[in-house]
Amino acid sequence: MAAQIIDGKAVSAKVKEEVRQQIEREGLDVGLAVVIVGDDPASRVYVNNKKKACEVCGIKSYEYALPAETTEEELLELVDTLNADKNVNGILVQLPLPKHLNEEKVIERISPMKDVDAFHAANVGKIMIGNYAFLPCTPAGCMELIHSAGIDVSGKECVVIGRSNIVGKPMAMLLLHENGTVTVCHSRTKDLKEVCRRADILVAAVGRANFVTADMVKDGAVVIDVGINRGEDGKLCGDVKFDEVSEKASFITPVPGGVGPMTIAMLMKNTVMAKKIQS
Ligand code: NDP
Repeated sequence: MAAQIIDGKAVSAKVKEEVRQQIEREGLDVGLAVVIVGDDPASRVYVNNKKKACEVCGIKSYEYALPAETTEEELLELVDTLNADKNVNGILVQLPLPKHLNEEKVIERISPMKDVDAFHAANVGKIMIGNYAFLPCTPAGCMELIHSAGIDVSGKECVVIGRSNIVGKPMAMLLLHENGTVTVCHSRTKDLKEVCRRADILVAAVGRANFVTADMVKDGAVVIDVGINRGEDGKLCGDVKFDEVSEKASFITPVPGGVGPMTIAMLMKNTVMAKKIQS
């Protein structure tokens, strides 16, 4: 039987509406600064989408578009200014940065209380011990999608493919906090297919088009596709071979329209959370 599609657009619209209502109800004045360095077209699309989401939610967005040749000193100075700016509750530096800029150094400079991406080591540490304010947007969005489908993680075999700091590792941690039995796979994993076939919940965060095929998926598994890739036909596609896997899974997220919109919705949620923490 074909899988039920988890509609990320609908769930993200609901999350954004809740954020909008909270801002209205509590009369909050919330601001998000978005910093983009250089002219990477994908980053530009992401930044524009974030600005649009701010408008929908009633969050003021302040864009800082800096030229590609911006020095690290200049960027760090801007971060310091934004850290001190009372109108700015959240600071987001769009990654990747041009090669001459040290991403880690820039992220560590953001005040942890304004780190709405939850990439700062202080926030990562809090996620690890389960005492967090901000959750990293993409993994938090995946969890929201899982919850929206009424799936209880507790006791389930969960397999995450990918161990990046921004997706794979925090995703594994969130599943663990909800009492999943979690396995994290990566490029050195042996018998990846066999490991994946054990999963009741399979999360793909690999960055390779159509990487997860039906033979890697257990009948009735929940499949969350984080990947954003361009297929050979130039179209946007995920890490999961949707046509064949959707015949086997019980629930599946599409690309586009799955995890992508959730990431932005969770950013809005984090920005309001930042405002609350700061007031
Ligand atoms: P990274 O490139 O940082 O990580 C990819 C991970 O996949 C690595 O851990 C790597 O293993 C693993 N991997 C690569 N090849 C294989 C393989 N053959 N077998 C098993 N594991 C493998 O990517 P990100 O985590 O940043 O992103 C992953 C995907 O998610 C990308 O498509 C990205 O565009 C997308 N993304 C989507 C977002 C959204 O909002 N929907 C947000 C962020 C990312 P190793 O560590 O050993 O190298």
